[in-house]
Amino acid sequence: MLNLDFHPTGRHFLQIPGPSPVPDRILRAMSLPTIDHRGPEFGALGKKILSGIQGVFKTRHPVVIYPASGTGAWEAALANTLSPGDHVVMYETGHFASLWVRMAARLGLSTEFLAYEGADDQLPHAAGWRHAVQADMIETRLRADGERRIKAVCVVHNETSTGVTSDILAVRQAIDAAGHPALLMVDTISGLASADYRHDEWGVDVTVSGSQKGLMLPPGISFNAISPRALEAMKTARLPRAFWAWDEIVEMNKDGYWPYTPNTNLLYGLHEALEMIESEGLPQVFARHQRWGAGVRAAVQAWGLPIQCADPAAFSPVLTGVITPAGVDADALRRLIHERFDLSLGTGLGKLKGRMFRIGHLGDSNDLTLLATVAGVEMGLKLVGVKLAGSGVQAAMDHFSSHPAPSALKNAA
Ligand code: PLP
Repeated sequence: MLNLDFHPTGRHFLQIPGPSPVPDRILRAMSLPTIDHRGPEFGALGKKILSGIQGVFKTRHPVVIYPASGTGAWEAALANTLSPGDHVVMYETGHFASLWVRMAARLGLSTEFLAYEGADDQLPHAAGWRHAVQADMIETRLRADGERRIKAVCVVHNETSTGVTSDILAVRQAIDAAGHPALLMVDTISGLASADYRHDEWGVDVTVSGSQKGLMLPPGISFNAISPRALEAMKTARLPRAFWAWDEIVEMNKDGYWPYTPNTNLLYGLHEALEMIESEGLPQVFARHQRWGAGVRAAVQAWGLPIQCADPAAFSPVLTGVITPAGVDADALRRLIHERFDLSLGTGLGKLKGRMFRIGHLGDSNDLTLLATVAGVEMGLKLVGVKLAGSGVQAAMDHFSSHPAPSALKNAA
């Protein structure tokens, strides 16, 4: 039975790939008294947040904020731009892409799921879940669509179930090369504010994201960044929508308000997160995540275990998936690590259940947090009898000590 009275000493290590640990500074900001969401102070706060979040998406166009989890923002993206029976092409990168395509079908869209066609020795039943979106497959498919039946291409930027990051600009270029008018919709729920992302420059029509990953907030708010083409598509889109409808929200957002009661205290948190990210600088945020990813992968490689992402060019800066040796139940390993070392790791989702675990290295972390995480995993692996090729802790220490963090360099200067 879950014992909610149990408070272990020290800090829990929440190393799942989101929700990520919430910094004290954000928790404090969220504890301010809730104010009148129709009053003047709120309007000023709303305007500041709405303009700040544009910077994180790298867009000059509207970003809608919902008091909902990321799943809601997925639905909003589809419901605002498409009509019943419209054909959408999605790409199977993993569990989250699979959930999004299922949602599209439930909404009454006609769906097509492109997938990697190669084989895989480690995970023959989930070969595609080790690779990024292949933009050339999308181009070929769009070229074959002479009647222009395809209304949207939807892809996941950072597939949180696998730790594989796809090249969104390449997808945009594939759509352009095919001269196809389909909208491009991208889920960067776990990529935003951790992995480089550029809504306008990459020609994305709708970007979907959430609060509980790189933004370092608790779960509970999510986003649609919307291009002018997507706003235009909204005018003729006939899927039913009310709560998710962009038009009323965008209109009221002009004065910093929402048509319903927004998530005031989470918005305080978002305000704080935006200040933190702005003062650090997005390039530094991305570099920090890349460096952590490299350190954690050095550990996995030293153990001699396969990384879920089979393509080094697509390694995620946000999380690393680790495939366990055949016969080692990754969930039993995770449970043991949790019980013994108060460390939470991400479970294998969908087709990967029991075969892999995920180490989150995002948000409010640092080198020593990640070294402790690697140490917890290493102890767990040994306890369940996995023969390790070498010490991951040593490899991660070597990596972090020989690659100073950008902030350390700045402080030393
Ligand atoms: N898409 C991706 C890539 C995710 O990582 C998640 C959640 O982890 C979702 C969609 C679903 O978002 P939520 O669980 O906030 O509804």
